Amino acid sequence: MSKKVPITVAHGDGIGPEIMAATLRILEAAGAALDIETIEIGEKVYLRGNTAGIEPSAWESLRRTKVFLKAPITTPQGGGFKSLNVTTRKTLGLFANVRPCVSYHPYVKTRHPNMNVVIVRENEEDTYAGIEYRLSPNVTQCLKLITKPGSEKIIRYAFEYARQNHRKKVTCFTKDNIMKMTDGLFHKLFDEIGAEYPDLEKEHWIVDIGAAKMADTPETFDVIVMPNLYGDILSDVAAQIAGSVGLAGSANIGDHAAMFEAIHGSAPRRAGQNLANPSGLLLGAVQMLVHIGQTEEAARVHNAWLKTIEDGIHTYDIFKPDVSKQKVGTKEFADAVIARIGQKPETLQAVQYAAGGGRPITHSRIEANAELTGVDVYVNWNGYRADELAVTLQQANGEGLALQMISNRGVKVWPEGMPETFTVDNWRCRFIGEKGQVTQQQTVSLLGRVAGLGLSIAKMEHLQYFDGVPGFSLAQGQ
Ligand code: NAD
Repeated sequence: MSKKVPITVAHGDGIGPEIMAATLRILEAAGAALDIETIEIGEKVYLRGNTAGIEPSAWESLRRTKVFLKAPITTPQGGGFKSLNVTTRKTLGLFANVRPCVSYHPYVKTRHPNMNVVIVRENEEDTYAGIEYRLSPNVTQCLKLITKPGSEKIIRYAFEYARQNHRKKVTCFTKDNIMKMTDGLFHKLFDEIGAEYPDLEKEHWIVDIGAAKMADTPETFDVIVMPNLYGDILSDVAAQIAGSVGLAGSANIGDHAAMFEAIHGSAPRRAGQNLANPSGLLLGAVQMLVHIGQTEEAARVHNAWLKTIEDGIHTYDIFKPDVSKQKVGTKEFADAVIARIGQKPETLQAVQYAAGGGRPITHSRIEANAELTGVDVYVNWNGYRADELAVTLQQANGEGLALQMISNRGVKVWPEGMPETFTVDNWRCRFIGEKGQVTQQQTVSLLGRVAGLGLSIAKMEHLQYFDGVPGFSLAQGQ
């Protein structure tokens, strides 16, 4: 018997309490050694006026146990409530989201009988950093942040996961033909880190065609690693085409803590009726057992679950008269899994989990020599003719900086713009050092001169070279 491992459990809202009770019963019957601390999160906490949906005492438990098994919660309608998932992920630094999407043909209906894909999604960065601005009356902006250490962590995690789980291939999806700097960094790190794993096959797809291939022939993929936004969208697509979002669990892994859950929500209309399928949460709990090193218990639960599915004992959501044998409720489904502990599936593939190991997920920062060469000043101006704006702005030239280019929505409109180019009221005005390098004092005093012309400055970005490589993109048409 393993030593009891403390974990924090939240029973959640809607169908949450029922599927959590079923899950915990199965874990206990399989001999999982858990010391459970229960916390309250979700609707009741939100409705008490706590906009985060979680009490300070719950954080203490999470910090102590570092392992969180979470049932789905209901986020109340209306503004002001913060997403508990996003808060938990960010507060605990859960950088990796791991979602196995497996089909259980012929027992669960799917067009992809041989699908077995694990989506490893970066969880903290990209457009999900939540840094947005309204720059002008007509222009809003969301920053897409891709960092070197953040990307390195998720890519290393994907390769380590693949190796530990006897996977053969790791695929990377990005859109680096368009976002050469951000997605380009992610792709470059994938190639560099991939070289440390000669035993694994590696490939990269542009996300659009990669997603199309994944939806069409998912059996050609194995582990797929992606930045946050693509991963968010494509992990739902993958779970859905595998058969049902109701069957997938997910792990959110950080350096200091981890959270395990079903991918579906609290299904309030099904609550309290002993109808819900506990499988998503149970498979999330299997990932948790592997994480805490109880690999034998994890395999015991997982194989008993596979045998139950194979025996045609199904909840209403996956019940199909031609393959199912018995339609059961949440409790009866849990009883059926418990009755099969120690058994393995015969047609579906049985699972086996290896004990721990793996290399630590290292990451590092780049040191580079930065040289300032100019500044992009974003001004709000309600005119239409870029040459008129340029005449005004050129009055701000001086002290070694001169207007080089104006772009609007990323497209060069001055010098030599096209009259057909559609423009809005926020203009990027690029000033470059006439002799190359400039100082911050020069760019700051330029800002003063632009403001002195009566123009409204929305923001500025410094233009830098890092070890001689430009740290800024050219405008389209520049
Ligand atoms: P949902 O996943 O709760 O339900 C979608 C559909 O799937 C419904 O028809 C539901 O009946 C069915 N379903 C979901 N889980 C099932 C299960 N285990 N067994 C059988 N059927 C199941 O999504 P929704 O309706 O968009 O959201 C409901 C609530 O859940 C909202 O308040 C939402 O904010 C919340 N939510 C929470 C989480 C989370 O806590 N991780 C995730 C998604 C949604």
